[in-house]
Amino acid sequence: MSRFDLSREELAAILAGEPAYRVDQVWDGLYRLHADPSELTSLPRMLRDLLAHDPRLAPAWVLVAETTSDRDTTWKWLLEAPDGARVETVVMGYRTRTTACVSSQAGCAMGCSFCATGQLGFGRHLTSGEIVEQVVLAARHTEQAGRGRLGNVVLMGMGEPLANYRNVLAALRRCNEELGIGARSMTVSTVGIVPGILRLAAEPLQVNLAVSLHAANDALRDELVPVNRRYDLDALMGACRRYVDATHRRISFEWACIAGVNDSPRDARELAGLARPLGAHVNLIPLNPTPGYAVAGSTASAVARFRDELSDHGVNVTVRNTRGRDVEAACGQLAAGVAVGGLRRVAVGARLA
Ligand code: SAH
Ligand code: SF4
Repeated sequence: MSRFDLSREELAAILAGEPAYRVDQVWDGLYRLHADPSELTSLPRMLRDLLAHDPRLAPAWVLVAETTSDRDTTWKWLLEAPDGARVETVVMGYRTRTTACVSSQAGCAMGCSFCATGQLGFGRHLTSGEIVEQVVLAARHTEQAGRGRLGNVVLMGMGEPLANYRNVLAALRRCNEELGIGARSMTVSTVGIVPGILRLAAEPLQVNLAVSLHAANDALRDELVPVNRRYDLDALMGACRRYVDATHRRISFEWACIAGVNDSPRDARELAGLARPLGAHVNLIPLNPTPGYAVAGSTASAVARFRDELSDHGVNVTVRNTRGRDVEAACGQLAAGVAVGGLRRVAVGARLA
C-alpha cells in the first residue's frame, strides 16, 4: 500500500474534523510539490506531526541502494516495501528531458531466459500507488537535481505491466490526471500479452506501446520468451495491428541483440517483415549479461550490421547508446544483486522523501 493509493475521499476521511481545504493542501503537497506531509509548512504544526505519524500516509518505499552513472545523468534505485518486496526504479536524464523507468511488479512470472527479473521469479503485483510513488520519487529527484520537470514515464522496470493490468492502468491515469504527465509521454512495455494489448487499445488514455519482440519466428521466440507459446507471433502481430489502428500511435519493437542467437542478417530480414507493415520503430539493445543466461550480447559491429540490414529494408531503427549498458538494458540487475557496470553505489539505507 502507498499513500498514492488513497482516493481524495479516503484522504478526506483521514482529515475528518479539519477544514475542507486541508484535503486540497495535502493532496497538492503529494502530487504537485512531491512533498512528504511532514514538509508541508502550510499546515499547522500539530496536524503536520499527526500526519507524519499516520501509517496511511507513510512512504511505501525505503531506499536500499542507489547507484549513479559517472556523469550523474542516470540514477538507479533499489527500493523495498515493508513486506520486503523489492523493485527498482531508474531515472535517466538525457539533456533536459528526464525519464523515469518504473516497475510494475516485484519480480516477474514470465520467465524470459535472458532477463535477470525473469530469473528471480514472481514476487507480487505492485499496487497502483506503489507505481505512482516511484514516479513521484523520480519527479522529486529530477527537480532537486535542477533538471526541471520529469518528462517521460516508461514501464520498463521489473515486471510485466499487462499482467498487472488494473493497477498499471490506474497508475497511468493518476500520473496523467494528477501529475500532469501526458499520455504521449508514457510508454507501456510488454512481453506480448495479447488480451492486455487489445484491452489497452480500447482505453481512452492512449499511451505508447513497446513490444519486447527479440525473435521474429515462433521457434526462436518460444525459447527466448516462453509466453510466445501461449500468444504466438500471428496473434501478437494481430494485436499490434489493432493497437496501431485504434490509437494511431507508432509502436516500437524492443530487440536485445544476442550473439549468434538473433543477430544475423536473416533475423534482421525476418524482423523487417514484421515491423514494416506496422510502421513499427525498432530499438536495438545489446544483451546485458545475466548470471542465468550464458550467452553474450552482440558485438558493436554485429549490432551495426543488423541495424543497416533493417534500414535497407525500410525500417526505422535506433541503437540504444552505450549508456543502455549501465541502466536501460539492466532490467532486474540491481534486485538480483548483480553489479552494474559504469554505476557507482552512492548511498545505502537512506530513506527517500
Ligand atoms: N516485462 C516487460 C517490461 C520490463 S522488461 C517487457 O518484457 O517488455 C524491459 C525491457 O528490458 C524489455 O524489453 C526486456 O526484453 C528487456 N530486457 C530484459 N532483460 C534484458 C537483458 N538482459 N538485456 C537487454 N534487455 C533486456
Ligand atoms: Fe518479465 Fe519482461 Fe523480464 Fe520477460 S523481459 S521476464 S516479461 S520483466
